[in-house]
Amino acid sequence: MVDVHIIGQGLAGSVAALELLRAGQTIHVSNDPSLSHCSRTAAGLFNPLNFKTLSRTWNADVVFPVAMQFYKDSELQLKASFWHPLPMLRIIGSEGEQKEWKAALSGNHFAPFLNNDPVPEEMSAYNRGFGLGLVEHCGYLDTNTFLEAVTAMLNDKNIYSEYTCKQEPEKTNQGWNINGIESRRVLYCEGWKAMENPLFNWLPFFPVKGDVILIEDENLKLDHLINAGCFVLPLGNKFYRIGSTYYPDETDDVPTQKGREELLQKAEKVLKRPINISNQWAGVRPSTGDRRPFIGEHPGKKGIWIFNGLGSRGVILSPWVARQLSSSMIFGTPIPRETDIVRHLKRFRKV
Ligand SMILES: Cc1cc2nc3c(=O)[nH]c(=O)nc-3n(C[C@H](O)[C@H](O)[C@H](O)COP(=O)(O)OP(=O)(O)OC[C@H]3O[C@@H](n4cnc5c(N)ncnc54)[C@H](O)[C@@H]3O)c2cc1C
Repeated sequence: MVDVHIIGQGLAGSVAALELLRAGQTIHVSNDPSLSHCSRTAAGLFNPLNFKTLSRTWNADVVFPVAMQFYKDSELQLKASFWHPLPMLRIIGSEGEQKEWKAALSGNHFAPFLNNDPVPEEMSAYNRGFGLGLVEHCGYLDTNTFLEAVTAMLNDKNIYSEYTCKQEPEKTNQGWNINGIESRRVLYCEGWKAMENPLFNWLPFFPVKGDVILIEDENLKLDHLINAGCFVLPLGNKFYRIGSTYYPDETDDVPTQKGREELLQKAEKVLKRPINISNQWAGVRPSTGDRRPFIGEHPGKKGIWIFNGLGSRGVILSPWVARQLSSSMIFGTPIPRETDIVRHLKRFRKV
């Protein structure tokens, strides 16, 4: 018997597993990595600004410090390197945006994030648009290294199984049984596949497919992360990741010609050179109608929980969301209304 049986080990399941173990809970994780590639496809970027509205991203002041501490602690615990801070250069796209940047630089609201330093020399060869803005507190999580390190730790503790969990949880005296694994609670972290789970398919998911490409170019000398309608992420050793496309309502992990061409066009415009693609991936973001995560206990089945709805910002949101979830599970602390699934209770009652 364990305290929590976690179904799914993408970013949500991995971060929840670490958080619950740190809180002294016993866990078991069941995962079929072949079902969804989302966390493995993700470029893993984090960035405190929304460039469309030139505003801070939702809850940035709260979620950023929690995430930074969480991933640094996890690197020490798992003895792996996956958290990579890297300043970002925004290529300003229009005269209007240029004015907004000037105003933002002179105000206090963005002061901690924007940097007025001269633009680095490396950019002289590339498209400079209407100017360049340097943004601090950005970078990326190497999601594959992170997920593999978590799987290895779970395997070492003998608390990991790899299979597709299709069975509905069966009620027992002390909690629930799935596939012979007895637990006090079950936590579903299935990404967009939760739309196919009869326990949670009433939640308003808004899946969004995305592609990323990998390029190799030894003449491209970029040390910064670039954002200009697409991102260009330097990975070292001549490799760069470029992404992402955004196709609402497409639900498969198959890379397409359409995605490839869109990214090629954007990348060639920024980098002013022909691009050679080495690889391409696609995944489906578990986004939600109101762009807020889904956490909480099933309204009709005590002990059945969900952690989902991370959308396009799984890296930075998941540690803070996992903390809310863990305190609610263990101590009954109320979950903030805007992330709690109770906000969609009317939909559940209609089903
Ligand atoms: C192209 C693209 C680029 C992105 N870029 C970024 C980025 O730069 N920064 C960022 O923060 N976010 C980014 N994201 C979003 C990020 O990937 C997601 O927010 C996050 O990965 C969601 O994690 P998850 O654990 O909820 O879902 P998933 O990664 O889908 O994980 C769910 C896991 O559960 C397993 N599973 C599901 N059902 C079952 C079952 N019944 N039995 C067993 N196993 C099951 C799946 O196989 C999978 O392993 C991007 C997404 C895409 C598609």
